[in-house]
Amino acid sequence: MLLQIIDSINGIRQVLKTFKKSNFQIGFVPTMGALHDGHLSLIREARKENDVVAVSIFVNPLQFGENEDFHHYPRPFENDRLLLSKEKVDILFYPGKEEIYPETFSTSISIKKLENKLCGKSRPGHFSGVATIVLKLFNIVKPDVVYFGQKDFQQTVIIKKMVSDLNVDTKIKVLPIVRDKDGLALSSRNAYLNNDERKEALCLFKALTKAKIMIDSGVTISGEIVNEMKCTIKEYKLARVDYISIVDKNTLEDVEYAKSGDVIALAVKIRNTRLIDNLIIPSLLFILYTITLLLKDSI
Ligand code: AMP
Repeated sequence: MLLQIIDSINGIRQVLKTFKKSNFQIGFVPTMGALHDGHLSLIREARKENDVVAVSIFVNPLQFGENEDFHHYPRPFENDRLLLSKEKVDILFYPGKEEIYPETFSTSISIKKLENKLCGKSRPGHFSGVATIVLKLFNIVKPDVVYFGQKDFQQTVIIKKMVSDLNVDTKIKVLPIVRDKDGLALSSRNAYLNNDERKEALCLFKALTKAKIMIDSGVTISGEIVNEMKCTIKEYKLARVDYISIVDKNTLEDVEYAKSGDVIALAVKIRNTRLIDNLIIPSLLFILYTITLLLKDSI
């Protein structure tokens, strides 16, 4: 099937209605465009697992603060369209701002306790904006399965909580972070980085790697790990830490001792570009398995 580009809510509802009548399973990937291999990993999984794949591209003004990059956010529509065609996506939902937020729009979703932690501290209102657009998209598309990336870890926790609290009848799948060869997590915002900044952006991955080495060697005190991560980042002159936290994967509360399943999350500004990354601490079994493999190789 050829990619259909639909910009109206009624239009996409009509098209999806026929698929739903035939009991087709609908997979959905919400994005803000400027697609890269991270987005494509979600789309490919959706393609594998569903009869119909819908992707949305909407740069959501509600999730940007006043001094943030809404106006500069990359919008390479033609390239995105070609990528989606290549991946055999069926439907691209590409609405304008007025279609989603008419002048009379006045509702917002709040996920108390979760929305003001981590990134929420320096981006007030961001997660309320995210949850509002995601719930609207869920109601428009009514997908069976929706795909998100672990790259935006806090977002996945908040969406899962909203889906559970509001009984949204959709399955959420979270897929691993896709990285560049050197470890930098792919992000549409990486396009803002010049050569020097791109080199310095590696500090997030370097700090996470440092944390992983410490945990593998038996360190569990969160404060010690976070301090070492801060030291790692201090070596990069363009980098300024927004936060580094080790948190429970459901409550996002700081943990005193890091254990498997907890999440190490950080946000760092490289000059004007704010980047995020995270690591879910692997289970002990996985660590032992890796060590066994390494030992086997060295014998
Ligand atoms: P965005 O366009 O930034 O709103 O992202 C759309 C979706 O792609 C979100 O679920 C993100 O978590 C996911 N995503 C962004 N970057 C990556 C990445 N490097 N690896 C995996 N998923 C990603």
